[in-house]
Amino acid sequence: MLFGRKKKNPIKIADKGVVEWKYATCGYCSTGCSIEVGLNAEGEPVSSRGVADADVNRGKLCLKGIFEHEIFASAGRGLKPKRRDHWYEAWQDTDWDSALDESYAGIRRIQEKYGLDAFAIISTGQMLTEEFYTLGKLTRGLIGTNNYDGNTTLCMASAVSGYKRSFGSDGPPGCYEDFEHTDCLIAWGSNLPEQHPIIYWRMKNAQENRPFPLVVVDPRVTMLAQNADIHLPITPGTDVVLQNALMHVIFAENLQDDDYIEKNTNGIEALREEVANYDPTCAAKICGIDEDTIRVVARLFANAPAAMQIWTMGINQSTHGSDGVVGINNLALITGNIGKPGGTSLSITGQCNAMGTREWSSCSGLPGYRYLENEQDRRDMADFWNIDIDILPTKRGMFQTDIYRAIETGEIKGLWLIATNPLSSLPNVGRVRKAMEKLEFCIVQDCYEDSESNQYANVFLPAGTWAEKNGVMTNTERRVNLITPLTAPPGEAKADLWIFNQMAKRFNAQNKVTFPDNAADVFLEMAALSRGRLGDISGMNHALIEKSRGIQWPYTEKQVKNNEVPPTGGKRLYTQPASFRYADGRAKLIPLPFIDNNEVPDEAYPVWLNTGRLIEHWHGRTKTGKVTNNNKFSPIPFIEINPDLAQELGVQRGEYVRLVSRRSDAVVMATPTQRVPKNMVFLPFHFHDCANRLTLGLLDPHSRQPAYKQSAVRIEKISDQQAAARLSMEMRTF
Ligand code: SF4
Repeated sequence: MLFGRKKKNPIKIADKGVVEWKYATCGYCSTGCSIEVGLNAEGEPVSSRGVADADVNRGKLCLKGIFEHEIFASAGRGLKPKRRDHWYEAWQDTDWDSALDESYAGIRRIQEKYGLDAFAIISTGQMLTEEFYTLGKLTRGLIGTNNYDGNTTLCMASAVSGYKRSFGSDGPPGCYEDFEHTDCLIAWGSNLPEQHPIIYWRMKNAQENRPFPLVVVDPRVTMLAQNADIHLPITPGTDVVLQNALMHVIFAENLQDDDYIEKNTNGIEALREEVANYDPTCAAKICGIDEDTIRVVARLFANAPAAMQIWTMGINQSTHGSDGVVGINNLALITGNIGKPGGTSLSITGQCNAMGTREWSSCSGLPGYRYLENEQDRRDMADFWNIDIDILPTKRGMFQTDIYRAIETGEIKGLWLIATNPLSSLPNVGRVRKAMEKLEFCIVQDCYEDSESNQYANVFLPAGTWAEKNGVMTNTERRVNLITPLTAPPGEAKADLWIFNQMAKRFNAQNKVTFPDNAADVFLEMAALSRGRLGDISGMNHALIEKSRGIQWPYTEKQVKNNEVPPTGGKRLYTQPASFRYADGRAKLIPLPFIDNNEVPDEAYPVWLNTGRLIEHWHGRTKTGKVTNNNKFSPIPFIEINPDLAQELGVQRGEYVRLVSRRSDAVVMATPTQRVPKNMVFLPFHFHDCANRLTLGLLDPHSRQPAYKQSAVRIEKISDQQAAARLSMEMRTF
């Protein structure tokens, strides 16, 4: 007789007829998983699998990665260049030369009439690094506008700003391997299992092999909080208070690492003076964490031989985002937890190539973490690119979030949007929509023509996506990994690098500046420029990167020649004493007084609105909303609502409710759960015309990143549930 599993039929995996597997790096999140896409005999992508010998994911992929091959043939792809005189008119098909000529003429017309900076350019974290670098060269060296930014301002700007303020440079100092060495982990506003599932798997695997306490700071009982040893359900927007209170305890109980502080930092006296004001008894009343727990966590962290902190948008998307990052760095520095195995402060990046844009796009400065404010850096780049130094501004221009306000006021008249969709992703989208209507000329370059922002374009340039192109991306742990082209862009769509190079020809009449045609050559140009910089990639090339399944920087020519670095690159930054990027090599300890400047719940809008991501979807669902399995698992906008609040309001599970903020309203389905407290709802931000109708998005003063996670709403019952269901269906479509 057969029992148990033996009675069951074996699982059959459908034969997709794969004849060849091609290498790439996942194009969704910043984890940076190595992926192979299977092509059938017709050369069509039909399957995806993780790469077994890749250090990042070791053969695994998450729900997004395993269906990634479906995006190539998804609906709404842009197939032809298009044009129209006014955004409210019908599109006309055109050819590439005409579309590029019209784009060039439109940019120059605005600049001649209103000045160089009246035309703004906003890109993304989704393109490949060679494309970012080329766009930066074109923008800084030839077009000459200083109002150039990426949508990374919406996700990573606070991390960048905080690293620069603390260490003198951007650049995450740690790596995933640190999970295998740490003795204590604090996760600030980071829900790894849903946002970065494979990093979560690495963390959990490390914890099972070598147990360490996990402390999760998050207002929600997220999946990560459910796995925590200690969960700190903090009051939204008060991270800095908790950080100061933890430091207060560390100093009061003499748990700091005096030797490390003395050799590696400046500013200890001012920091001590500030945190003296944050006695846990008082801090508890602001941040909502009881004083005993604050003391326990401070001792746990400071007494651990190696202690690590990670964070994501819960820290960055706040009016104190940059301060929150500095607070994390302060905690790491006073306990000697930077640059050693298991001791680090590691920002978990958002988009697949947010790091590539930070390193090479020239948005906030110049390539390779050079500064516009530094004359030598400007001179070096002017010489290298063969441009006039005077075209380079002496300080960075507007951030993306300020560009839309400048469109409102008429300071900016023209816009080129590249692979980004502000009408989905910016807070208070109603205001952004009105601003876009005021533009005199707008170019949208995107792989999808049905993005909301394309409604306001005069010229549409259809681009390739992800592995229709060739180039590299950098992940959260500074690992540069390769994408090889698996298939061609559809219809007449072209790779972004081709589009930038064709545009450059029109601005480069004297042919002074060179623009290599292929990504491998662009990479070698970047590698040459990186020599001697923090992010030195001079020992890398495309072939080596693929062979090693990704290489972490720094990875220098000299190290390679002298066999001083493993084939997968350098794991950590700041491993030597006083090796930070300030002139004296010392990191800054910066005091952080807390100013309560968020929108908070009141009588009219009594509930916190917290927004975030789901495992099934990616950002505005432009891609995952069209991938069958991803959309099937999470098709409509919903809120998590505490069952006590739902009962008080008379709202049943599955009923639609109306969320109302001071900006606008949205209809969502109610899902009662204890994951949120009674005074908060959680709303995934992925759905069309939904979460960002409500958000206020006050800006961080340093990073200009919006506070997406701290708004106030009220909840209204809806009597006509059928009408609400129809409205909800509209929000799921494009
Ligand atoms: Fe892609 Fe991120 Fe999932 Fe890895 S964890 S497969 S990089 S979405």
